[in-house]
Amino acid sequence: MSNNWLSKMMSSYLNYRKFMTGRYGSFDTINRALLVVALIALLFRRWLNGYLVLAIVALTIGLIIFRFLSKKIYVRSNENQRLSRFFAGAAQRNSEQTHERHQRNAYKKAQKQQRQAAKMKNQRQQAANIQAVIFKCDNCGQSLRVPQGKGKIKITCKNCQHTFIKET
Ligand SMILES: [Zn+2]
Repeated sequence: MSNNWLSKMMSSYLNYRKFMTGRYGSFDTINRALLVVALIALLFRRWLNGYLVLAIVALTIGLIIFRFLSKKIYVRSNENQRLSRFFAGAAQRNSEQTHERHQRNAYKKAQKQQRQAAKMKNQRQQAANIQAVIFKCDNCGQSLRVPQGKGKIKITCKNCQHTFIKET
């Protein structure tokens, strides 16, 4: 009984092998893409026309079976390579675009940071200008910036080291 079952299995497997000899028999990129299209059509059938879904599923599954059983192995293999290259090229272009976008964003961010830093530096300088008063050295005429509102202070010239007292 079990022997009979096994031999039936074996003979149907051998029949299948014999049937597939000289046929493409590959579940390649195109066939997988076709299956994905069929699954998407089934997934969205609620929002699509019923005949359209039926047509898409029949067409894709029909193409998969046709390609799987095709005896033109080289033709099937070539068209699959072309599609694989197309997908690879699209992925490459996409990654290049993403890279460029990241670089542009980084550049914009850096520019913004530079502008902010310049603005802050400017603000600090303006604040320093308001709180500072400028004297000229009695000895050499060098302009000296000193803080304002400190009363009488002793100023040392940074140029000639001459010291003098001023009211600020
Ligand atoms: Zn001086």
